[in-house]
Amino acid sequence: MSDITKLTVCETLKALQNKEISSVELTKAYIENMEKGRHYNAYITECADKALKQAEIADKNYQSGNNRLLEGIPLGIKDLFCTKDIRTTAASHILDNFIPPYESTVTQNLLNDGAVFLGKLNLDEFAMGGSNETSYFGPVVNPWSKDTDLVPGGSSGGSAAAVAANMCAAATGTDTGGSIREPAAFCGCTGIKPTYGRCSRYGIIAFASSLDQAGPIAKDVKDCALLLQSMAGFDEKDSTSCDIAVPDFPNLLNGDVKGLVVGVPKEYRPQGLNDEVASYWDKAAEYLKARGAIIKEISLPHTKYALATYYVLAPAEASSNLARYDGIRYGFRAEGKNLDDLYINTRTSGFGKEVQRRIMIGTYVLSAGYYDAYYLKAQKMRRLIHNDFMEAFKQCDIILTPTSPITAFPIGDESMLENPINMYLNDVFTVSVNLAGLPALSLPIGLSENGLPLGMQLIGKPFDEVTVFNVAAKIEEDAKFERK
Ligand code: GLN
Repeated sequence: MSDITKLTVCETLKALQNKEISSVELTKAYIENMEKGRHYNAYITECADKALKQAEIADKNYQSGNNRLLEGIPLGIKDLFCTKDIRTTAASHILDNFIPPYESTVTQNLLNDGAVFLGKLNLDEFAMGGSNETSYFGPVVNPWSKDTDLVPGGSSGGSAAAVAANMCAAATGTDTGGSIREPAAFCGCTGIKPTYGRCSRYGIIAFASSLDQAGPIAKDVKDCALLLQSMAGFDEKDSTSCDIAVPDFPNLLNGDVKGLVVGVPKEYRPQGLNDEVASYWDKAAEYLKARGAIIKEISLPHTKYALATYYVLAPAEASSNLARYDGIRYGFRAEGKNLDDLYINTRTSGFGKEVQRRIMIGTYVLSAGYYDAYYLKAQKMRRLIHNDFMEAFKQCDIILTPTSPITAFPIGDESMLENPINMYLNDVFTVSVNLAGLPALSLPIGLSENGLPLGMQLIGKPFDEVTVFNVAAKIEEDAKFERK
């Protein structure tokens, strides 16, 4: 077989089942790509030896016919998921020596299904960012870069870059305000943030607990469906995980879109929306229309408040979640003359600038006197944004929007780095979905004039990932996007 790392997960599983390849052979091929691709800086920690041992077990299971759902598939894991006995950093100096004594539920589910872990993938520090440039371990390079190095998007930038460059068969990501969908869009991959509560957050280093969700980034829609099936499920260790049966996602992709009502929100087409983005958006709608779907303009009137709401609530939760990194219990410690000094020194040198900014904003909006003006108002707005979607879903079955208003930009772009607000604006199409807890998928629709991938987003009703996958599979078939 030519290059086995170019296969999708579903194709690879067939080849493994038919004994055309072994998992050890496959894992070695991915390890070779990892080594060749080190300049992308996609991995923070590589686990080649461990991976090969897992692959040997997988091969034995194929021999004895005891192969499981993802037996022998080499995956990359975002370094926000705690992995037992494997360093887990959240791309932060403050955790750069942290070796968890336990496994996150999502990664445990993948291991129980026979997956092989190649290593831990780079991200924005504590998943705060949209370009992977806030990582303590340095930026990730988008494999689609030509003359200048481009960002892969963030925060799951390592995951998307590794999938795009065939340095893993698929990867895990997390999404608090777009961190699966945006990097997937920038790197020409497919990624889904499932409904809040679909995947357990146990063992995922917390950013903003009411928004964080795990999900896969993969080569295509079917791979995402398969990966999500393994990752999802009720977990009593996470009180916000939902006790709802996980459908057989990959086998439910054959549905018809005839008669399905696809909502197109008018507020997502602001004046000045990039022409290419707008025309691909129309094209995606045309594809569905040609298959018998009904395209309907809908309204999500509170969209204009979504970014402000998100950038109050996410930092508020982050400031509370990150209070635990004090240099006492675990992680990095900088000494000090007294306890206060130790705290200050540890947190000043342990956290990067963006994380410090979020902690400052979060502490401010939660403090007496400002709580009512910011935090409480944002909570009320969150409810209104949620209600907008619920109203819209009375008139449509699914919502179609672009994933991002722009394509990948150069690493070190001054307009983004000098004014963080410009970076935050890129999340305009993704954050509402997290505020409302809905499932949303991004898939590549085509290339921009300068040859960079553009993503389309499909937003579903709560726990209706099946429809999201189904519609995405149809667009994928028609768009015929060529992977890198
Ligand atoms: N870009 C957004 C932020 O910086 C989203 C990050 C995420 O989803 N983890 O908050």
